[in-house]
Amino acid sequence: MKKNTIWVVLILILVAILGFNLKDKILKNDSSTDVESEKPQVVTSLYPIYFFASQIAGDKAEVTNVTPSGAEPHDYEPTIQDIVNFEKSDLLILNGGGLELWGDNMKQNLNDKKVIIVTASDGIANKQAEEKGETIQDPHVWLSPQLAKKEVVNILAGFIKADPNNKETYEKNADALKVKLDELDVQYKEGLNNCTQKNIVTSHTAFGYLATTYGFDQVPISGLSPDEEPSARQLIDLAEFAKQNNIKYIFFETLVSPKLSNTLANEIGAQTLVLDPIEGVSEKDIEQGKNYFSIMRDNLNNLRTALECQ
Ligand SMILES: [Zn+2]
Repeated sequence: MKKNTIWVVLILILVAILGFNLKDKILKNDSSTDVESEKPQVVTSLYPIYFFASQIAGDKAEVTNVTPSGAEPHDYEPTIQDIVNFEKSDLLILNGGGLELWGDNMKQNLNDKKVIIVTASDGIANKQAEEKGETIQDPHVWLSPQLAKKEVVNILAGFIKADPNNKETYEKNADALKVKLDELDVQYKEGLNNCTQKNIVTSHTAFGYLATTYGFDQVPISGLSPDEEPSARQLIDLAEFAKQNNIKYIFFETLVSPKLSNTLANEIGAQTLVLDPIEGVSEKDIEQGKNYFSIMRDNLNNLRTALECQ
């Protein structure tokens, strides 16, 4: 009888220890899974979209950008690791309008996954350009603050769909971003209100929406993508155009070789200036505090110089 009691007590103690351990393990597992999936994972395709998404996310979602800092997104191809990251993400935000040549394929690949895909320029990228006899959509809508605001609306809708619990925070953050874009728009309107020059010569055809919004014309050296190089004939015509129109500045970009801009500037005795399409920002520039807004303001200053504004 005594022996039996001891056995029962021992078994009870053993069960209690095992039980606690098991409970502990389950709790630990639960909490580690929670930490991993705590914030929605958002992946973007290029810097301006990344910047807008990060502003909307605040501290509620984790945003990563697929195009490496300082890389040119027109010719970027996602790596296998990028594709794995797309599949694991909750929300993938593309610019669209023909910018990501891999965009349509990726949408199909992710069709059976739970990833929400947003094309930020949907219903906005309505400008087209002729290139090598083909009509191509112009994707560079983020360079017009008013159109960037519309992209913010599309991006916000994606966030709310992916994470409805934080709807109010996302809406509040998007509203703050839209106010800043309105302020930028006013600065552009005022800054480019009274200018002598009507034309700018740019590196690639990135500034069509910006030019239309603020009433000037862009004459590009390359096509809609920076690697669409001009022929010798086109360069001669461009030099002639620049001379006739008394153009004193030729723009170049930070991510593209300035060789053609320099050649043209030397040819006509003009100076060169940066006009950044904000397609990627280098680590160094980000460390120095540069972002979409500061670069847009730098662009405005250089535009005011080239367009000879009062
Ligand atoms: Zn571009």
